[in-house]
Amino acid sequence: MTVRELMDKYVRLLRRAGIKSPRADVEWLASDVFKCSRSELALHGHKMPTREQVDRMRKNIKRRLDREPLQHILGIGDFYGYEFRVSSAVLIPRPETETLAELALGFLHPLPAPVAFDLGTGSGCIAITLAKRCPGVKVIASDVSESALNLAKLNAETLDAIEQVEFREADGLPALAEGEQVDLIVSNPPYIPSGDIAGLQPEVRHYDPHLALDGGEDGLQFHRLLAAEGQSRLKPGGKLMAEFGDGQESAIEGLFAQAAWASVKITNDLTGRPRIVIASAGQ
Ligand code: GLN
Repeated sequence: MTVRELMDKYVRLLRRAGIKSPRADVEWLASDVFKCSRSELALHGHKMPTREQVDRMRKNIKRRLDREPLQHILGIGDFYGYEFRVSSAVLIPRPETETLAELALGFLHPLPAPVAFDLGTGSGCIAITLAKRCPGVKVIASDVSESALNLAKLNAETLDAIEQVEFREADGLPALAEGEQVDLIVSNPPYIPSGDIAGLQPEVRHYDPHLALDGGEDGLQFHRLLAAEGQSRLKPGGKLMAEFGDGQESAIEGLFAQAAWASVKITNDLTGRPRIVIASAGQ
């Protein structure tokens, strides 16, 4: 069987199993096995794979059939054009969170020597992207999970951002010292209502850490704290930017309205769904 025939066979298998993007998944897994880019795979199509390559491909496909996310099989997730190591200790970076990073960068860029705080950094994807794209920024990145923080540090080293990011193991806003104020608080906190987790797709519910998903009974446990206490941790004119889930927009607006921020704005993600709250502290 040629490489192309092998790949076609696995595309059919994944499709029959109900996996959403079978062709793309097989191409990613094959490019890992054949050590080439996805576009170069066409050059290998007519070749006969070695026994070892067939075995590796079969193992990768088996993991995907067990609904293990592609990023876990490859060990890597892409975010903002950078490759982040991922594991079951961290949420796989999502494209919607790139919008959050982009908004954060837009705010930080004009500031002289800004300080940002990434609450619940996970893989470090937001914190490290800010460091890479805004060379003058200093980022404080916290997580309650030691294993997440270890992976985030590794990512910061690999991506050469370790000098700009300070990692702190802590739960929420207390990661900042008493009286310490920053220009920006950015966060993709857990926001899935506890009762909804069992209904998520298997890739998410079995492989993303529940610690990174579960936002309490209504999913808003972290936003409630951010709305109430975030402002005291910001410098005058500072901003808080946080991601939230489907259908949470009006509850989020309510929470931030109660806490008397100078202004509150909701922004959509790339699919046009309300996804990010931007709250500004007074001057
Ligand atoms: N966006 C993730 C999902 O839908 C949830 C991430 C989070 O809770 N912050 O699976």
